[in-house]
Amino acid sequence: MKDKYDVIIVGAGPAGLSCAEVLAKNGKSVLVLEKNKKIGPKVCAGGLTARVEKERFLSLQDVDKTFNSFKLHFLKTCKTLTDSNPLVATIDRKKLGEIMLEKALKKGAEIKTEIKVKEIKENSIIINGQEIKFDYLIGADGSNSTVRRFLGIKTKKILVTLQYIISQDIQKFKEMEYFFNSKILNGYFWIFPHKNFTAVGCGYCPKNTWQDVRIKECFEKWLIKHRIKTEKLELRSFPIQFDYQGYQFGNKFLIGDAGGFVSGATGEGIYFAMVSGKEVAKKIINPQYDCPEISKILKIKRRHEYSFRKINFLNNIFPNLGFNILAFLLNFRWFKKIFIKIFI
Ligand SMILES: Cc1cc2nc3c(=O)[nH]c(=O)nc-3n(C[C@H](O)[C@H](O)[C@H](O)COP(=O)(O)OP(=O)(O)OC[C@H]3O[C@@H](n4cnc5c(N)ncnc54)[C@H](O)[C@@H]3O)c2cc1C
Repeated sequence: MKDKYDVIIVGAGPAGLSCAEVLAKNGKSVLVLEKNKKIGPKVCAGGLTARVEKERFLSLQDVDKTFNSFKLHFLKTCKTLTDSNPLVATIDRKKLGEIMLEKALKKGAEIKTEIKVKEIKENSIIINGQEIKFDYLIGADGSNSTVRRFLGIKTKKILVTLQYIISQDIQKFKEMEYFFNSKILNGYFWIFPHKNFTAVGCGYCPKNTWQDVRIKECFEKWLIKHRIKTEKLELRSFPIQFDYQGYQFGNKFLIGDAGGFVSGATGEGIYFAMVSGKEVAKKIINPQYDCPEISKILKIKRRHEYSFRKINFLNNIFPNLGFNILAFLLNFRWFKKIFIKIFI
């Protein structure tokens, strides 16, 4: 490692790697520091919306599976949303990491693994006693961001999640499915089939619910109801922080989950991470650039969160009231179109 870089990026997830690729392509010296040995694997369901392919972040060949439809299960009904083109897809995070790593390396970014950034100063970081200076520092270090903590930015909005990766009986899970039943949890459950495994999980926002939630018990109850066996599998949990409070703080930036660029409704964050990474890179290259794509993703995020806050609020007044209204509206084709436009 050199003693000075134009940009140091903490974290080699989708946000950090998309940012590194654009910066390196434009001639900036970039150092990416990743605490894990392997780049890619992370607690995540790996669901992608059509946006990712439309904007050419990934091609359809890279993904595990594509789906022209997905199912929304409510207490008494199930709605299927369909299109002639793929609406959603799944990708293995290991593979996503490998693809993005290769692209960033090809453009000339320097990437070091097994380095956990702990000590940050105004214009440098200290790694194993070595001081490395930067012009810009980027926090791409996920929901528990060290850079965010250094900047003194509080995190109040989080989603609590649980997930199993199920490798057996993969033929049993064929469709991308979401389950809504606020009698069990005022959040949602998901089944996302991949090529070699299925991600089955649940999440909710403690801020949006009046119940005293014991999420593990809720998840077990739902798994039993749906006859999904998880014995001997590892239950994983990871918070999703969606408390966006700006992305530029002097010569430091926050992107991806570190910046709260996640939908607090659906937990979708891969696309938001890639966009915020790319946009901040452009801002560093040209400080006059005003990041229009960030404004767009913030608009999407706010729409998601507003809709779900209202639904969760109604569910608090009467179990499943919000979900039942959503299910009723999904009987209309015009509403299905709006729903797809907002969420996909
Ligand atoms: C259960 C669950 C399911 C999800 N499902 C989906 C889904 O289906 N679709 C979707 O789009 N999103 C989903 N998400 C969200 C998605 O995982 C994130 O939004 C996305 O990974 C954000 O990318 P990122 O690059 O900002 O952060 P991350 O992917 O978290 O990457 C951050 C990187 O920084 C590294 N790091 C952290 N601290 C340090 C440090 N101090 N020093 C060095 N390195 C550090 C980490 O090891 C990690 O590699 C899910 C999240 C959870 C928890």
